[in-house]
Amino acid sequence: MGETMSRRLKFHLGGEAEMEERAFGNPFPDYEAAASAGPATGGAEDAGCARPPPATDELGLPFRDDGKIVQNFTKRIQTKIKDLLQQMEEGLKTADPHDCSAYTGWTGIALLYLQLYRVTCDQTYLLRSLDYVKRTLRNLNGRRVTFLCGDAGPLAVGAVVYHKLKSDCESQECITKLLQLQRTIVCRDSDLPDELLYGRAGYLYALLYLNTEIGPGTVCESAIKEVVCAIIESGKTLSREERKAERCPLLYQWHRKQYVGAAHGMAGIYYMLMQPAAKVDQETLTEMVKPSIDYVRHKRFRSGNYPSSLSNETDRLVHWCHGAPGVIHMLMQAYKVFKEEKYLKDAMECSDVIWQRGLLRKGYGICHGTAGNGYSFLSLYHLTQDKKYLYRACKFAEWCLEYGAHGCRIPDRPYSLFEGMAGAIHFLSDILAPETSRFPAFELAPPQRDRKI
Ligand SMILES: [Zn+2]
Repeated sequence: MGETMSRRLKFHLGGEAEMEERAFGNPFPDYEAAASAGPATGGAEDAGCARPPPATDELGLPFRDDGKIVQNFTKRIQTKIKDLLQQMEEGLKTADPHDCSAYTGWTGIALLYLQLYRVTCDQTYLLRSLDYVKRTLRNLNGRRVTFLCGDAGPLAVGAVVYHKLKSDCESQECITKLLQLQRTIVCRDSDLPDELLYGRAGYLYALLYLNTEIGPGTVCESAIKEVVCAIIESGKTLSREERKAERCPLLYQWHRKQYVGAAHGMAGIYYMLMQPAAKVDQETLTEMVKPSIDYVRHKRFRSGNYPSSLSNETDRLVHWCHGAPGVIHMLMQAYKVFKEEKYLKDAMECSDVIWQRGLLRKGYGICHGTAGNGYSFLSLYHLTQDKKYLYRACKFAEWCLEYGAHGCRIPDRPYSLFEGMAGAIHFLSDILAPETSRFPAFELAPPQRDRKI
């Protein structure tokens, strides 16, 4: 997504020059070096001593042994969030009034405020979110069906915000409208794709989001099953057509290209199918999903990164939408579901590539920016409890604290959740509570933390 990169010198650039064009060199020492230097931003600040904020290249750990973020770093993040929120609100005054998507529009801003409410428990954020929800619900356009780019996003977020405000009637109304989209999703004859941004997996996410945020049963199992079946049937059909039934039983394409990444490709679709809330039966997981994942794994570059599509052999993009930062989520989920070490090993290698090449010149956003790449470390930290990954996430957050200072390209929607500032704020706020963080509009809350209905 958003691959509008200048094509100059495209055919002349070798690996390293190419990398330099897309990402900044990572100026931070990695965890081992920093950890051996001991806590640098800990003790003194926590005791209230005045001291200038550490330089970005200072060695040391921004968290304590128990994984809690040190006070000095917390304060810097809180101050930056306030500052960026102000800039964002100012900037949004001239944003497209009709873009209601979670990806670039008002639902994304509603999601950000919902996140700030979750992290701070400050009710004013919830009311802010409601303001944006109301705005989006007046502007549904019926053109697309997914959480990220279609009407399912505003409706699902609306249902959750109203539920939290105990406005159950309004919440139910949103859910009913969301379920009315179902018919177009499961229709066999439609040319709807299956990927996350515009296709069935993006509608499935909206259903699963409701069941994790409001409570199990909010969307009945049969509705979820219907969508899951449509996705699986579609994958089987293409696999047969392409004569790949043996190697990759579930094959998907978007605009006639077999994309690999999270946004348009197989990693995003398999990731959704492996969610426990999707309730895909064990046999389908083992016989269909697992070999397909292994097929994608074999397309891995030597660097540990992944191609943007099966036919692409250049190791270029390290984005959530294309490349390791999206595929890593599929691998982590595969590790949880199939419990085989190879998935975790591959995920760790993705993390190394993201650490080296993840500070993107495209900016600080979620889809193809530093914040989205930073989330891969937070998720890997959850999975492994290895502080190396918390450290890497904190360093990417530190980079985001210098928002705008690196000379990155300005995205088309500079204040939006997936391309711009709202995404960086979302990531920074998750650093304040890393143990409950999750990639917006993609990761689901763990089932053990189901709220009361
Ligand atoms: Zn992107």
